[in-house]
Amino acid sequence: MRALILGRGLSGKGAASLLKSLGFSFSFYQDGEDIPSFSEFDFAVKSPGIPVNHKILRYLRERGIPILGETELAYRFSRGTIVSITGTNGKSTTTAMIHTALRAANRKTFIGGNFGIPFSEFALSTDNETASVIELSSFQIEDLLSYRSDVSVILNVTPDHLNRYRDFTEYKRAKLKLIKHSDVTILNKDDKELKGTKGDNILFFSKREAADAFIEKGKLRVKTKGGEIRVPLSELPLKGSHNEENYLAAALTLSLLGLSEEEILLGLKQFKGLPHRTEEVAQVKGVKFINDSKATNPDSLKKALESFNRVILIAGGSDKGLNFTHLKPLVKERVKAAVLIGETAELLSKTFSDVTAVRRAPSMEEAVNIAFNLSEEGDTVLLSPGCASFDMFRNFEERGEAFKEAVLKLKRELEGKS
Ligand code: ADP
Repeated sequence: MRALILGRGLSGKGAASLLKSLGFSFSFYQDGEDIPSFSEFDFAVKSPGIPVNHKILRYLRERGIPILGETELAYRFSRGTIVSITGTNGKSTTTAMIHTALRAANRKTFIGGNFGIPFSEFALSTDNETASVIELSSFQIEDLLSYRSDVSVILNVTPDHLNRYRDFTEYKRAKLKLIKHSDVTILNKDDKELKGTKGDNILFFSKREAADAFIEKGKLRVKTKGGEIRVPLSELPLKGSHNEENYLAAALTLSLLGLSEEEILLGLKQFKGLPHRTEEVAQVKGVKFINDSKATNPDSLKKALESFNRVILIAGGSDKGLNFTHLKPLVKERVKAAVLIGETAELLSKTFSDVTAVRRAPSMEEAVNIAFNLSEEGDTVLLSPGCASFDMFRNFEERGEAFKEAVLKLKRELEGKS
């Protein structure tokens, strides 16, 4: 068998390593390269970064060559239980939370997908006892064919990636397609796009009202076949209302996978959060610095603002055609000043200048210094860009690291230590 791998990124390389282990031969195709002769290939493997209307896909379809997404390919060679997590925000956090708890309960488990480790990298290491916890982007879900998930979670659906989808409806449809590939799907009842979803195998979680998993008197309450599991929120390390949602989804998933109340509490306690998601970097002269570089759309920025008061906000980045107007009341209430960077600085400045003081900065280091100069003891300097990072950085990690470096430099200069 010979395959054409579309894309040389992480997914493409993952697919290559799987095909190599299987003894298949393969070639790569990357945008801008000559289109190879198609008669040589039995099938193609598509990386999620290739849009569905890409000319190479048309060429392949016209020639009758089957196209498999990288996740679909990996699934076909995997065994055991599949847990799938999607949503506009909170995917990585919830995926890592579930994986950590399964490991703490001594289950054989792998983590991957959109999480940065392609499913193809470990599909052949799975067996009937394994639980593979797979983070899925909407682009990966679009490409699923026979993929079957035992338990899936859709955390929320809010506007994002509108540079790649025709409109929000099309983006939402891509996310909801996961339901068709799942034995059970857990949805957020507090999300206006998800709450009305009907289906036999749908469970709901809610922070506000009774559901299959919900919060009451400071406890997560999860319905089980035989009764109920209760987990006190005060014992769990991650704060913020968005993390309560992640905890509800994770606890319900873990209960469906057969973990006991003790195992769920212990497992959730062990997960201390991922870097670049409302991560505290340092305190400088009584000012707290928070790195939320992974906030790449308006809703994640909203969640960060809801978690802090007296904020000096650093925001802005590459333009995905998103609108921030609905955040104005929250910015007015919580943001003392905004320091804007990147491609969307102009747009954000226009949107927020009548509700808060606005400044512009040409680099992350200057943004941090300006933000600190605008702050007073007790304030929080929050990097929560609400936009992708590709205008100034390679990725959100590099942006977060630039922020941390600038903060630690400032701290050294002002306090004479690191
Ligand atoms: P994803 O993998 O979907 O991008 P992450 O867990 O990496 O999600 O978090 C991305 C951003 O969204 C971070 O700024 C984080 O603080 C925020 N976030 C985390 N969980 C949620 C949630 N349930 N709802 C909204 N925002 C969230």
